[in-house]
Amino acid sequence: MAKILRVNMSKLKANLEDLPKEYQGLGGRALTSAIICKEVPPLADPLGTENKLIFSAGILAGTSVPNSGRLSVGGKSPLTNTIKEANSGGAAAQKLVKLGFQAVVIEGSAKELTSLKIDKNGVTFIPAASYRELGNYGVIERLKREFGDNIAIISIGPAGEWKLKTGSVAVTTPDFHIRVAARGGLGAVMGSKNLKAVIIDDTNGDKVELKDKAKFREASTALSKGILSHPLIGIFKELGTSCLVMMMNAYGCLATKNYSLGQFEGAEKISGEHMVELMKKRPNGQNVHRCMDGCIINCSNIFTDEMGEMIVSGLEYETIGLVGSNCMIDDLDIIARINRVCNDIGIDTMDIGGAVAICMEAGLLAWGDGKAALNLVEEVGKKTEKGLMIGNGCKFTGEKLGVKRIPHVKGQCLAAYDPRSLKGTGVTYATSPMGADHSCGNAIPNPANPAYNPSAPTGQGPVSQFLQSYFAAIDSLGLCLFASLPLLDIPELQGLLVSCVSAKSGEPLDENYLINLGTSVLKAERKFNSAVGFTTKDDRLPRFFLEEKLLPSGNVFDVPEEEIDGVHKF
Ligand code: SF4
Repeated sequence: MAKILRVNMSKLKANLEDLPKEYQGLGGRALTSAIICKEVPPLADPLGTENKLIFSAGILAGTSVPNSGRLSVGGKSPLTNTIKEANSGGAAAQKLVKLGFQAVVIEGSAKELTSLKIDKNGVTFIPAASYRELGNYGVIERLKREFGDNIAIISIGPAGEWKLKTGSVAVTTPDFHIRVAARGGLGAVMGSKNLKAVIIDDTNGDKVELKDKAKFREASTALSKGILSHPLIGIFKELGTSCLVMMMNAYGCLATKNYSLGQFEGAEKISGEHMVELMKKRPNGQNVHRCMDGCIINCSNIFTDEMGEMIVSGLEYETIGLVGSNCMIDDLDIIARINRVCNDIGIDTMDIGGAVAICMEAGLLAWGDGKAALNLVEEVGKKTEKGLMIGNGCKFTGEKLGVKRIPHVKGQCLAAYDPRSLKGTGVTYATSPMGADHSCGNAIPNPANPAYNPSAPTGQGPVSQFLQSYFAAIDSLGLCLFASLPLLDIPELQGLLVSCVSAKSGEPLDENYLINLGTSVLKAERKFNSAVGFTTKDDRLPRFFLEEKLLPSGNVFDVPEEEIDGVHKF
């Protein structure tokens, strides 16, 4: 039976627990949120000892279901003050379940900076004073040298140690590139525990138990084939997530100039198409890369400089949008370098991109000045006043500089989709329990569903409601978002996914399993947030989205408040 590993950092003690009854059958976001709801007082200080940090493998982690190895990281967020789950690719979740752990719960706070090694023999606490303020790239290099290749590393950079509100959690891929559970400042929560890194070595680990192997194999194989048959997957394979730059630009919703425009004149220069051509010419550049074993899409990349030195892996749409078009920066090399600095210091590229744009709006640097933006982001690592300001996110920065147009909900910066043209996504930004978070339910235009109009003022509430439930379930299974998109257009594939869960657990599950699971996760998360003090008044976009016309469409965000408030009336 899968277990919970409880680690008390104050006492430097670890305990193994069978999954209590109320947590059985859960994984990923469903499990992190269930533990927070039960064990963290809603009014706890996110950076205090009452808060907990939870790493959880998804329900299907370690199996042959494609793209199912994402790691959920949960806690109460210092950025939003809400419940939070951020998830990441990488190798950690698959290794955890092979050691028999569905989740690791970090409690208390160590007196000194400490790392944790988890392997078949148990848990070892390792003094980490010599790692103090070391960036994630250096941490990974040293730990790999010390512990070998068969490990996954979860770590924080200096920003997490300094408890900056954009502090992120880095997770290594099988080939030791960095993926990030970026949003909500969970790296700061890890820093508040004085936990620098978790090293997971699954040597001699066990295979994940499947109750009905034949049924599982049949469903999993058919699911893989079905996912690969969807036309969208071919685009992700070729261009990665940066395919979205030209798509969103054409649709007039590419976040541009601190959300004052929906199209960017330099879009082609930061597009996936341009990146592919650039990487073809550069030594060691890769347009195809996978963040976890078992990925059948390989949407990621390795972005190199002209000499073939890796700058960053992978360079994704959200970073390109927030750091690029939203700051009017049309240079992929500069964007990649800013991405690298963020990964190393351990800060969220999205909230940082939002904060840099706010600084541009305030006149601290010129629109489109990539070098000045890079210098500003590097200031976070130098702990200058401006660096610490942007390191606390776009809302903090906007309030400090007296900027009126701050694109956030519940303290978290929006993603690179303007909600005036993608109104279903706008409803998700407004009502998600996580603050503005596109991955909770992004309603982008879909050629397979031409009847859906993303910029219509009505009908968006039910769309967002369905997507939020669906993706809460996907986050609980540990499935990558891109592998889950074809299932929205090919409902039989949802049946196959449910069959995989059923064949793994041996429990019969009906066709409503995914929506019921997702809905129960959302209900619990909303209940936690209500106890913190959040009400429907907090489920609103900043007023400028309702009042300023987005060019060139002229759209405003005009979804009626009753429709927004109906989303979580389950
Ligand atoms: S499709 Fe992309 S994000 Fe998903 S598992 Fe593969 S490489 Fe990772």
